[in-house]
Amino acid sequence: MIAGIYKGKEQIDIDSVADPTLSHGDVLIEVDACAVCGTDLRTYRHGDKKIIPPRILGHEFCGTVVESAAPDANVKVGDRVVMYIVLSCGECRYCKGGRQNLCVSRTTMSYHYDGAYAPFVKVPAPFVKNNQLFKVESDIPSDQMSLAEPLGCVINAHGHLQIGVYDTVAVIGAGPIGVMHAVMARLQGAQKVWMLDVSENRLKLAEGFDIDGTVQVKPDGSHIAAMNELTDGFGPSVVIVACSSAHAQADALEIAGKGGKVEYFGGLPKSAPTAVLNTNHLHYKELIISGSYSEKITDFQASQALIQSGRFPADRIITHSLPLERMTEAFPLMESGAALKVCIHPEA
Ligand SMILES: [Zn+2]
Ligand SMILES: [Zn+2]
Repeated sequence: MIAGIYKGKEQIDIDSVADPTLSHGDVLIEVDACAVCGTDLRTYRHGDKKIIPPRILGHEFCGTVVESAAPDANVKVGDRVVMYIVLSCGECRYCKGGRQNLCVSRTTMSYHYDGAYAPFVKVPAPFVKNNQLFKVESDIPSDQMSLAEPLGCVINAHGHLQIGVYDTVAVIGAGPIGVMHAVMARLQGAQKVWMLDVSENRLKLAEGFDIDGTVQVKPDGSHIAAMNELTDGFGPSVVIVACSSAHAQADALEIAGKGGKVEYFGGLPKSAPTAVLNTNHLHYKELIISGSYSEKITDFQASQALIQSGRFPADRIITHSLPLERMTEAFPLMESGAALKVCIHPEA
């Protein structure tokens, strides 16, 4: 088959590889759609120590089971499925506490096993045995279902925030993840939801969603005063940082209202992981900061259910589709803010 093969920094080759062959317990999926993740972009531009090339990336996928060597599996040939992609040990204290995302020995599709920038993806037996494939229970298009993975990560973060009708929410970073955070905040009843970004392109796209407004982040710090004004001098009760920026992390503490919650959703580049923060904001405003990484299987299931319900605007979050042969065109589209989510459609 022809696949998008990551061979190192700035190098994804569209090349032929051997068709996957199944061992006992494995399942083969014909990929309908695979959305491009921000981490794929980061790996492409900067590499990733956890990914040893050659590797087929792509972990946000939906497809149809076409072959099964797992007769007892919860999915059968012909089922359209999505997948919880974290394989956890089930034994460590985090797994036992229900937090598989923090497992001490976790492995992940597209990091340790080939992913779905290919017409076919093999799901290794341990994932199948754990029932990590989920049948899609509606006729919603596969490209929309491919968002179940990233939305699950967003839902994991919202578990810390518990947003409700008392909250006013600011999301810094208006990329696809930021938009998903804003939509989730609204679905959970937030009074007001604003989005901030440096990019006018991204803010324009964000305005198409059910939010109360956007504020452009400027070097003069005027966005901080603007957020203060929009919240009658109090500051938002929740600030979510949905971009990889030390400045945004510092701004979030500045912007948040007293007693507020601040969520650092994205990490910083591993080459520069330190932010300069005014921790007096934590002290005087009694802020609570949380971080989040990946998702638990329950988050994934909640995400799948929400997308299947049709109440989540997945169709509008996917702004671009590309055939596999042109998959690297996704990266500049994402970087320029022209695209939210880009979906790759491999043809068998
Ligand atoms: Zn992802
Ligand atoms: Zn574990």
